Amino acid sequence: MDIRIIRSTKRRKTVQARKVGGTLEILAPAGLSDEQLQPHIRRLADRIARRDRSVDLDDCFLEERATELNRRYFNDRLKFHSIRWSHTQKKSFGSCTPSLGTIHISARLSRMPRFVLEYVIVHELAHLRERGHGKRFWSLVNRYAKTERARGYLMAAGMDDVEPIPEGDHSDTGGSVGNPHLDEGVFRQSQGSTE
Ligand SMILES: [Zn+2]
Repeated sequence: MDIRIIRSTKRRKTVQARKVGGTLEILAPAGLSDEQLQPHIRRLADRIARRDRSVDLDDCFLEERATELNRRYFNDRLKFHSIRWSHTQKKSFGSCTPSLGTIHISARLSRMPRFVLEYVIVHELAHLRERGHGKRFWSLVNRYAKTERARGYLMAAGMDDVEPIPEGDHSDTGGSVGNPHLDEGVFRQSQGSTE
């Protein structure tokens, strides 16, 4: 996030922050140096990030929906590790990293009709089993009856799908390699038992 510091001689002590578009504006007393402001900026940026995540958009809500849709359309067979709102995905509606069992849903979906959000969750859940957008993938997704309607809606909104993120792109995950959610029979791994 971009940070802009706005100093004012009228301001005595308090440092405040507000988000304007994608910029974090720090309102500070004129006497404070950049260096003195650093701890305040960190604290305020953390607080705003937490607020964005927890108040505006509730990840628990996504988890409940995904759990319910998994039960209804996949017999509770798909295992996901986490499903969260994403504020960085603007054009794509969601992403899935099957090897980690992580799903991200664009925050834009929170302002769309429920059936569109549900379709996207089903779509990303289906990627846990089928990575590409082949026939078998769509036969999974089409269990959700409003799939075509939702796709039309998203197309009109200018949102494209993205492929599941390739494994190599996940260098930031550090210690979490060796995901415990790789249940046999759920994930089709290319290596291993086939000759
Ligand atoms: Zn997809």
